[in-house]
Amino acid sequence: MYEGAVQELIDELGRLPGIGPKSAQRIAFHILDSDAQEMTKLAAAIQTVKEKVKFCTICFNISEQETCAICRDERRDGSKICIVEESKDVLAIERTRAFNGLYHVLGGSINPMQGIGPEQLRIRELLSRLGDESITELILATDPNLEGEATATYLVRTLRPLGIEISRLASGLPVGGDLEYADEVTLARAFEGRRLAGSGAAPAASKDTDFEVSTASSDG
Ligand code: ZN
Repeated sequence: MYEGAVQELIDELGRLPGIGPKSAQRIAFHILDSDAQEMTKLAAAIQTVKEKVKFCTICFNISEQETCAICRDERRDGSKICIVEESKDVLAIERTRAFNGLYHVLGGSINPMQGIGPEQLRIRELLSRLGDESITELILATDPNLEGEATATYLVRTLRPLGIEISRLASGLPVGGDLEYADEVTLARAFEGRRLAGSGAAPAASKDTDFEVSTASSDG
């Protein structure tokens, strides 16, 4: 344990994702050794981002205005909505230039271990957006890992009765990984090869299990 301020800084840094106690200590000492002006800039950047940046009221992407640049862009195709977990996934998909529709950022994925269920995600907000008849296609682009799969499965089940076409990114994405880490070519290819995951055309009587829903592809 260090004295007061230093320990406090280490503790705060240690709360950040991916930073263990050793890294926290290393960064704290880097800050101590650094030029005061540089560190004031860092502190100011943190403060500014917390003050200025908010969530788009439509898609929940990060934005400095009421709505984000993508939602404001009239050249975007408002009939397609790509559903992602985080704002950084929006960025990853934008880099591919494979998609010209709008987004919906869920704010995470279903993760019972961490107490995150559908209610904690922005699914209600998504459903209210879908009341707009101009939306004809939903693309599920959750992470290719367990939580992302669970989220996509839940969404297919919840959204299918609306009769809107639902597709999922094609395989080829590294399984168990994060969407944001997929390289642009792989992600663009997954986008172009997206497959139907279920739509209103599917027989309402069919009792799909989770497994069947998540792998269902009715190409054609
Ligand atoms: Zn937006």
